[in-house]
Amino acid sequence: MITKIEKITEESLLKSVELLKSGEVIGIPTETVYGLGAVGTMPSAVKKIFEVKGRPADNPLIAHVHKDYDLNKLVYIEHDYVYELLKAYTPGPLTLVFKSKKVVCEEATCGGETLAVRIPSHKGCQSLLKLLDMPLVAPSANLSKHTSPVTAQHVYNDLDGKIPLILDGGKCSGGIESTVLDVTEKVPRILRAGLITKEMVEKVVGACLIAEHKEGDKVKSPGVKYKHYQPKCQTALFSREQIEEIKKEYKKYKEQNKIPFIMCDSDMAKNFEGYNLLNLGETEEEIARNLYEKLLEGEKIADIIIAVEMPNEKGIYLGITNRLKKSCG
Ligand code: AMP
Ligand code: MG
Repeated sequence: MITKIEKITEESLLKSVELLKSGEVIGIPTETVYGLGAVGTMPSAVKKIFEVKGRPADNPLIAHVHKDYDLNKLVYIEHDYVYELLKAYTPGPLTLVFKSKKVVCEEATCGGETLAVRIPSHKGCQSLLKLLDMPLVAPSANLSKHTSPVTAQHVYNDLDGKIPLILDGGKCSGGIESTVLDVTEKVPRILRAGLITKEMVEKVVGACLIAEHKEGDKVKSPGVKYKHYQPKCQTALFSREQIEEIKKEYKKYKEQNKIPFIMCDSDMAKNFEGYNLLNLGETEEEIARNLYEKLLEGEKIADIIIAVEMPNEKGIYLGITNRLKKSCG
């Protein structure tokens, strides 16, 4: 199969809808990362997503809908705080987990009782969803376990020959996957941290829990138990106090005639002048936006990426830390 990359135009949007309705899966831009989408009511199309990615069959998909879509068609909204969250943070990088009405097929929800729903803010993606007017289920558009794509080219690098079309909507502005929030209980619970932070949810709802995923637990968000986000080169993760150890590790690789790169934020980078650097930037937002791009750049030019932890786990840093630990830890 020939994989085309097409910029978003009226024509490419119509072609996308046609492909989706005929049961194909395609690459789509969102404001978080690129997705691999299929119509959520077509079991055979949804199955293709799992085949193309090599995704474990018990890791469910998120249903994406346009901003005027009636969520009551897909799920039971059991708590009033959901309306406040929808008003405050959608369209945007927030996925809500509801009790499913099972309109979206069980291949997408992996037979579970819940459905995760998101309303993306990316303009091109909104236009596509509006034209389609059906739930589009999509995970990130990478091969399972690999780093998530934030450009159309990244999707192409992983899925060339496996899908007919990648819609090119530019580089993703968010850079890490959406916050997944369970809203089936009285107090919402973060299952996966992201750009909508615990503090932001608390501001609107008053309270917000964070799910703990311990070894052996029955996890509510199956995705969190898998290896994830890994670049194709070696990796290591150090704390901010270990500057000398990082320099030693770097030297060790140099002496083996290998190419090490240090990946850290601008503040930490001041300690490594003259070293090969993947600089993630300064602010939480900037670091999130650059993280996957730097990992994917790094796997091409480095034998090892030596990553440095974030200054704390507050706000967006929690989501970044979660990805750093899984990709480099
Ligand atoms: P991906 O965007 O590739 O990370 O995949 C979507 C992620 O959303 C999964 O890995 C799950 O963690 C999460 N997810 C999707 N559906 C559900 C659900 N019904 N309940 C809990 N988490 C979900
Ligand atoms: Mg993913």
